[in-house]
Amino acid sequence: MLRFGCFQPFLDLRYGISTMQDGDMNIATGNPKRDSLGTQNRKKFFVKEGITGAIFLPRFVHGNTVRVVNVQNRNEIVEADAATTREQDIYLTVTVGDCFPVYCYDPETGTIGLAHAGWKGIIRGVLTNTIQTMAKQFFSRPENIRIGIGPGICKRHYTILLEHFGYFRGYEHFIEKRREQYFADLEGMIGLQARSAGARLIESSGQCAYCLNTTYFSHRRERRQIPRVMLAYIMLRGNGTKSEEI
Ligand SMILES: [Zn+2]
Repeated sequence: MLRFGCFQPFLDLRYGISTMQDGDMNIATGNPKRDSLGTQNRKKFFVKEGITGAIFLPRFVHGNTVRVVNVQNRNEIVEADAATTREQDIYLTVTVGDCFPVYCYDPETGTIGLAHAGWKGIIRGVLTNTIQTMAKQFFSRPENIRIGIGPGICKRHYTILLEHFGYFRGYEHFIEKRREQYFADLEGMIGLQARSAGARLIESSGQCAYCLNTTYFSHRRERRQIPRVMLAYIMLRGNGTKSEEI
């Protein structure tokens, strides 16, 4: 169960993530049989969560592109690692399996965002771009944007290659050397990026996909050729009730 206290007052905000019990959500494996299993699993998950209507599914490139979703383009599949919308009843979704889903909500403007943040996206500023896009497109003030960092791989389990160390400029203090290995705190980096972009209410689920081995898939733990993934979503339900302050 994924619950963020900073989203709790907003009854029209819906968000969540599938678990291992819901099955693998990967539909881009290149294997038609596997892809159809992923499609079936998604359908079942949508029914279970009461998800109907417009769903925006980006294709990841581990970059920093943020798609602005609206009624016209909501069914397009484009290359992006994050999305934002002010339309109600549109589900933004991303798949993860060690990478973090980062849920964003500005109750003042009714804007939602969802980013897929792995190390490549983080160093390319995917969350900075998400917050800035919400500000530019929908006039969200960064300090009003609430951030929920979903399940991803924890710093005890996430090793990086020595030759990648140089990419983490500005985040060096989130990297620790233990027994000749380098461990990176991606969640810490996401938090710093959100704060640097102006967000003030930032909360983490504290859930590690690797540690929680009966709840989530984790690519680093499973080491499968084709990773199994979870589906994360966020949506703001229409009906007017915009915000209800704590
Ligand atoms: Zn862990």
